[in-house]
Formats: sequence, C-alpha cells, structure tokens
Amino acid sequence: MLGLMQDRPLALPHVFHRAEQYFGHKTIVTAGAAGETRTTVAEWAQRVRRLATVLDTLDVSADGRVGTFCWNTGRHLELYLAAPCTGRVLHTLNIRLFPEQLVYVANHAEDEVVFVDRSLLPLLWPLVDKLETVRHVIVIDDGADTEVPVDPRVHDYEELIGAAAPFEGTFVIEDENTAAAMCYTSGTTGNPKGVVYSHRSAVLHSLITLIVDGAALSERDVVLPVVPMFHANAWGLPYGCLLAGSDLVFPGPNMNPQAIAGLLERHRVTVTGGVPTIWMGMQPLLAQHDLSALRTILCGGSAVPKALSEAYREAIGVPMLHAWGMTETSPIATMSTPRTQHDPLTEAERADVRARQGQAVPLVDLRLVDPGTGEPQPWDDTATGEIQAAGPWIAAEYYRGEGGGAQFTDDGWLRTGDVAAVDRYGFVRLVDRTKDLIKSGGEWIGSVELENEIMAHPKVAEAAVIAIPHEKWVERPLACVVVKPGETLTADEVIAHLEPRVAKWWLPDAVEFIDEVPKTSVGKFSKRTLREKFGGYQVT
Ligand code: ADP
Repeated sequence: MLGLMQDRPLALPHVFHRAEQYFGHKTIVTAGAAGETRTTVAEWAQRVRRLATVLDTLDVSADGRVGTFCWNTGRHLELYLAAPCTGRVLHTLNIRLFPEQLVYVANHAEDEVVFVDRSLLPLLWPLVDKLETVRHVIVIDDGADTEVPVDPRVHDYEELIGAAAPFEGTFVIEDENTAAAMCYTSGTTGNPKGVVYSHRSAVLHSLITLIVDGAALSERDVVLPVVPMFHANAWGLPYGCLLAGSDLVFPGPNMNPQAIAGLLERHRVTVTGGVPTIWMGMQPLLAQHDLSALRTILCGGSAVPKALSEAYREAIGVPMLHAWGMTETSPIATMSTPRTQHDPLTEAERADVRARQGQAVPLVDLRLVDPGTGEPQPWDDTATGEIQAAGPWIAAEYYRGEGGGAQFTDDGWLRTGDVAAVDRYGFVRLVDRTKDLIKSGGEWIGSVELENEIMAHPKVAEAAVIAIPHEKWVERPLACVVVKPGETLTADEVIAHLEPRVAKWWLPDAVEFIDEVPKTSVGKFSKRTLREKFGGYQVT
C-alpha cells in the first residue's frame, strides 16, 4: 500500500518563492570596494526574475551550465537561484584554482556562460580562449577599476538585468532529481572531479542548517558566510538563510581578518562560518571588537584545533561549532553540538568533545569499516577505520563517471578517505585522511592529533605534521611549525610540550620552523605542498 500524500518535488523554486513571499523586508548586505550595498530580499527577488530572462536571452540551453567566478556577494546569490530555478545548472568555479585546473573544470562541465566579478577578470580573461564551450562572459561590476575587454563575448551584468523583463509567475522544476548545481572537488589527488547536486539534495541539505542541534538558522539571525560560495555552496548557508528568512551579510572581495571582524561587529552578525584558517587569522583581533551578538561560528573543512575553539570561548564566550563533511556530502555530514551526556563533563572535557567532528546529522548514515577488508569496526572510540557515508545529499557518483567508481562501495556508500574512531554515542573523532596518515613501523600515526597538540602550545600559530621517509620505520612524523609573531621557540620545547600528551613513538623526529603553512585553494593546510618541499628530508 502506498502513502496518500502529495508528491510535490523538493526543489529550489520553493526556496525562492518562500523568501520572496515571506521575507521581502529582510536585507542582503554586500561589502565591496565602493563601500557596502544593501538590498531587500524583495529587490533581490525582482533581480532574480530579471536574471532568469537574461539566461534565456543569452540562449543558455535548457540544462546549460552557468559558471560563476565570483566572491561572496548578493549578486552571486542572484545566480544561485536564477540558474537552478530555470532548470540550468549553477557551476561555482573556484577562483583560486590553478589556471590549468580552471580550464579543465570549465571544459569538463561544458560551461556555456561565465559570470565574473570585475575584480576577478584578470584571473579569468587570459584563459577565456581556452574555454571551449563558453559563449558569453558577463562582467559584474564590483567597483574594481580593472579594465573590461572590448569583445563581442563580453556583456555588462547591470545592462543585461536593466534591459530584461522580469520572469512572471512561478518557477517550476517538475523532477526533484534534476541537477541544480555542481562543484568540483579541489583535486588534491588527480584532476578535480565534479559533484552534481540535485534540487532534492540541495533542499534537504538546506534544512539541515536549520536544525536546533546544529547551526539553528532562524528568521532572527544575521548570517555572514565567510566560507566561499564556490566551496560546496558555502556549506548550504545561502539556501538555508533564504528558507529561514535570516538577514545576510556578504564579505565581497575583502576577506582579511580586520574586514571580517568589522562586518561581524557592525551588522551584529549572529551566525558565521568558515575554515579554521580564517578564525586563526581573526583571533588576535577579538579583544578589539564587540562581537556580543555572535552566537555560532560554524567551522570545518579541516580539523578545528581545540586551542582555537577554546581561545574563542575564553575571549567572546563562543567556541567553534565543529562540522565535518566534503564536497561529495553537500557538505554537512556531522556536527559536534554537545548533548545531554556531556552535561556532567568539566569545561576541559567539553572542549575535547567540541574538538570532535561530531554526530551524523539526521538523514545521514555513517559506518566505520576496515578500509582493506570492509569489516565493520566497533564504535568504542578506540578502533579506527574509514568513515563511509550514505544519505540523500551524499554523492552517488562523479560527473561523467570520473574516478571509475573507486570512491563508492558496491552497496552504494561513499568512501570518504577519512580515518576516524567513533564513540558509543556516534561522535566521530577524525584521526586523519588516509593519504596523510603516517605509517611508522606498521602502525599509524594520526597527523591531525599531533597538530592539535602542537597548536595548543601558547607560542604556536600554526602547525602541520607530515610523513617523511625513514629507513627503519618507513615513515616518521615531521612537524612544520609557525611561531606566533614576536615569540621564539625551539624544537626541544615543542617535543617537551608533546611528551606528556602523546605516545612516545608518536613524537616527531624533527621540527622545522616555517613562516607560514601553505594553504589550498579553499584555505586548508596543503600537506601536499609541504611534502613536496620536504620530500628529501633527512633526519639528522
Ligand atoms: P578537498 O577534498 O579537495 O580538500 P573538500 O572541501 O571536499 O575538498 O574536503 C573534504 C575533506 O576535508 C574531508 O574528507 C576531510 O578530510 C577534511 N575535513 C572536512 N571537515 C573536517 C573536519 N571538521 N575535521 C577534519 N577534517 C575535515
């Protein structure tokens, strides 16, 4: 017997029309070179309707890929809705990709048009002739004085919007499994691979940003997504805010810590989100700003150091809300909100809970398996294994079958490549990525845990631990440490700090002091770059 409920598609037009109907009075602020611009959601919605017509005028095919090469802005949010609500596929290009990767990704996705912020033209324009399927480049004037090339392919965004009649009526996507957006993994191994989100997955994932045991976005919130809109759709925050009716503040091109702290203070932001690097950069500024409105800092993308979270808790009363996921998981898969079982814990013990990646959010299934045999591992917080994930917003395959299915199990689960232990309540503690684990004498050393402990040293700004080859033990840990400005630290002091905290055989064989840990295109520690740099390292 079937249920007798309405079969209405879960699709982004609902998000758009809900925002337009109920939240027209709410605001969207974007910071830019020429100051801040403020629009109401009603004005924004009218522009989305015009943009829908623009996509027709530009002759973008029914399911054509619409590339965006943009900062986090209100204009970008127009594209976020106009493309999928008209059946097209939003393709957010990572502005920090190497040129060859960018060309590869745009050609692989067959982008027909690219919308680009004027300040980013110098990165995109030199590549345009290599973008085989791109017919139009639409320049969004963000106040930069970059020269705009005179070329028949180039259009001005405002002129197109101004000349377009708004689409009237209701957007309709009949099949909720229609593609809505795509995002390429940042390709730390091999070519980037395309993850294609559906309307259904985008809507369901957006709801997860609203749950109370998570970021709990509500109509009362003012949300500043620092995480780029090209990084797994800014973790679902933009769509979540439109569903909830939150006000939005976008940082635009200026992502330096002073600018972010200023926006948080000025707009009385309540919820923000970004990778740990952003919050490490802002930490020295906490005392200079009134951040009393802030209640949640969503943080993930790489392990959130306990020391960082604690520094925020001590300075402004708000620790990080740790979340874990990947482009393939839309990205939110777990969140580390403390639960009732944590109530009796001391503050220090609770900090350990917050340093965990957390519990699977509703509708996501996780399992812990031996990566070799596939045998399930116990959730006893000791046994480690690979985390595999399944759920309605977890990728089933890559665009055009790239990777040959190697990242998916025969029964359809995603192999995350992340190694973890899980406690009896299902709280994940990530040990490492499979490719970053250090294999020493047949045993694994987790670089994440070592980094966490090193970063707890008061004189350490950043630390990354990588494997270096070793004749006897195969691999041994090398700690790459960045000392806080004005401080001095020796290798012996680092080791002495670690000694009471980790097993003796985990102690790094060497400590290198570096000026900065190299970062990936989405601001994570780039261990690949460090491995290249220290590839021939000899322990002396
Ligand atoms: P890429 O794989 O190219 O870096 P993603 O942004 O999809 O791009 O990265 C996903 C990976 O980032 C995860 O598989 C995991 O290794 C790491 N990651 C994400 N969130 C966390 C977290 N909270 N703690 C530790 N690692 C994390």
